[in-house]
Amino acid sequence: MNQTSPRKRALVTGGSGGIGSAICRQLAADGFHVIVHANRSLEAAQTLVAQIRAAGGHAQARAFDVTDAAATAAALELLLADGPIQVVVNNAGIHDDAVFPGMQLRQWQQVIDVSLNGFFHVTQPLMMPMIRTRWGRIITITSVAAVAGNRGQVNYSAAKGALHSATKSLALEVASRGITVNAVAPGIIATPMSRGSFDPAAIAQLVPMKRPGRPEEVADLVSFLASEKSAYISGQVISINGGMI
Ligand code: NDP
Repeated sequence: MNQTSPRKRALVTGGSGGIGSAICRQLAADGFHVIVHANRSLEAAQTLVAQIRAAGGHAQARAFDVTDAAATAAALELLLADGPIQVVVNNAGIHDDAVFPGMQLRQWQQVIDVSLNGFFHVTQPLMMPMIRTRWGRIITITSVAAVAGNRGQVNYSAAKGALHSATKSLALEVASRGITVNAVAPGIIATPMSRGSFDPAAIAQLVPMKRPGRPEEVADLVSFLASEKSAYISGQVISINGGMI
């Protein structure tokens, strides 16, 4: 437990997904009240909340589309009525791959809308309440594709790379307020998102450790960044990729 009273609240976007659910479980185990966010999979988020509560943790589920500015603002306003949210994990993301000459405008816009515009819609309203408490953690899940580039992912790497820059700038703005802002850039992590893209042979070729990462390994890093122990780390992009770069 890294928790002192009152219990801090952590919002994990895409908490219904593979990496997000592992992050929710870990932050709940760390003592946070976890807001498990979903878009279409509210039922999965509610199941996770029930599991967290059964294990003695504190959690609630909320569903909204992070690309919908008005819906996101309304949902956050309701949540903020109960007090500040001091940890946000911007984890919601999609990929929609195509080599660039064949990429449709729709593919470009949707991927950027979820990752980059979603970051603004979710994080910006949380800032002033967080600043008032003089403590906060903003953690954004990006990708090795933004660090090294990846064929077929010009849209995805552009969105995630922009989040690296946003992380560095926002870290400077809030450094004196006890708020850290960091990005976690995973390599290939074993979730439904990566399963369709990488077979075991490709993973053996791309990853020096010859295995995909586990969602729990990403969650452990997020747990550290959400804790007091990471108070002097801000504006960083931290890779977790089995030695890929
Ligand atoms: P999943 O597909 O399992 O989860 C994606 C999550 O994002 C889901 O909870 C989904 O919600 C949510 N989401 C998607 N679109 C929206 C939207 N418009 N509004 C709100 N929420 C949305 O993916 P992973 O767990 O694998 O990935 C999580 C993050 O990690 C992503 O940002 C991804 O880019 C990143 N990442 C993943 C890697 C991997 O190998 N798996 C590697 C590097 C980075 P719902 O299902 O409820 O609709």
